[in-house]
Amino acid sequence: MDFDLTDEQKLIKETVRRFADEEIIPHARDNDVHGRFPADIIAKMGAIGLLGGVVPERYGGSGLDFIADAVIFEEIGRACSSVRTIVSVQVSLAELSILTWGSEGQKTRFLPGLCKGEILGAFALTEPHAGSDAAGIRTTAIKKGGGWLLNGSKTWISTGNRADISIVFAKTSPEAGAKGISAFIVGKDSPGFTSTEIKGKMGLRSADTASLFFHDCLVPEDAMLGKPGDGLKIALASLDNGRYGVAAGCVGIIQACIDASVKYAKEREQFGRPIAGFQLVQDMIARMHVDAEAARLLVYRAGHLKNKGVRNTLETSVAKYFASEAAVRAATDAIQVHGGYGYSDEYPVERYLRDAKVATIYEGTSQIQKLIIGEHLTGIKAFV
Ligand SMILES: Cc1cc2nc3c(=O)[nH]c(=O)nc-3n(C[C@H](O)[C@H](O)[C@H](O)COP(=O)(O)OP(=O)(O)OC[C@H]3O[C@@H](n4cnc5c(N)ncnc54)[C@H](O)[C@@H]3O)c2cc1C
Repeated sequence: MDFDLTDEQKLIKETVRRFADEEIIPHARDNDVHGRFPADIIAKMGAIGLLGGVVPERYGGSGLDFIADAVIFEEIGRACSSVRTIVSVQVSLAELSILTWGSEGQKTRFLPGLCKGEILGAFALTEPHAGSDAAGIRTTAIKKGGGWLLNGSKTWISTGNRADISIVFAKTSPEAGAKGISAFIVGKDSPGFTSTEIKGKMGLRSADTASLFFHDCLVPEDAMLGKPGDGLKIALASLDNGRYGVAAGCVGIIQACIDASVKYAKEREQFGRPIAGFQLVQDMIARMHVDAEAARLLVYRAGHLKNKGVRNTLETSVAKYFASEAAVRAATDAIQVHGGYGYSDEYPVERYLRDAKVATIYEGTSQIQKLIIGEHLTGIKAFV
């Protein structure tokens, strides 16, 4: 067992850290306040290969291993969770779904553009009536002429308004239940496709979140990803990758909470000395550090299995559950360390809390992660 990053992974960490410090952090507060989508940052990331993830170089990707991938998510998550969310959806959900399930034609058509950030991707599973119960989606796709006709709607879709392509899940055989779901790559210019922005979010304010509508939306026959009926399998396998990026991003949030809290606690004086010298303040910082270390190792453990190509649903759910809940704990404590100042956007810690909370909800709530873990341990599925 080797807990050290390789020289290449260390170099990637330093490079992404510098990029995050210079290009993301200086704009994070302003983009959050104004709900501004960081298109320029995403374009720059694409140009320097930070959106290529584990996609092989022959498809325009960076050909990284999953630990290096986690290192990138952690460093971006340390800087801004809105940017990390956009990158997670692009890399873990859009690119990896196409890489794993796409035809050779779909891979060569979409992956180079996604990896370079020239096109943006979204992953559209959730519907107004079907969140945790993904098999309960109602969007339908029926064969029409030489293509598929989609009807229905999706909600809470990250990058949904901006995405050039969305991976959309729809029922092609409603009578077959969970086995009757298929996946489609839907272009934003498809006739009958519209989207609207979801406003008033607690956090992730510079990330785009959308409702999507399909009204007799016609897509070509070759828009299907995988085979008819593969949809739920694709969705669940993709979520194993998505949750990994979320967990790694949450390690970044915890690290940002530690960095901000240590700095502030050493500067802020009460009772004639820095508050860092008070044991109860050190208690909060120490707990953050323990959570960061534990979460990071859980992520690396899941990444190690992914590198080996071994099934990792359990380990990824453990990492996602622990890291997201720990990020909320760390951000709450970081605000506490900052006292009244932590409650204002003069310091970034209130944003960390608003952004951390969604990680316990999206890509499967904490309750769903615990049910996945419980099923693995008991052999009994408790959520149907
Ligand atoms: C900012 C944001 C971005 C998102 N981005 C995307 C995206 O890009 N693509 C996408 O497809 N979706 C996305 N989502 C949707 C997200 O994945 C869902 O919100 C999530 O899966 C939960 O579904 P729901 O909101 O319908 O809650 P529900 O499923 O209605 O759950 C409500 C509560 O009930 C609990 N619950 C539900 N079922 C059970 C059960 N069997 N046992 C115990 N408790 C249960 C849940 O844990 C939760 O506490 C996003 C959501 C947000 C907020």
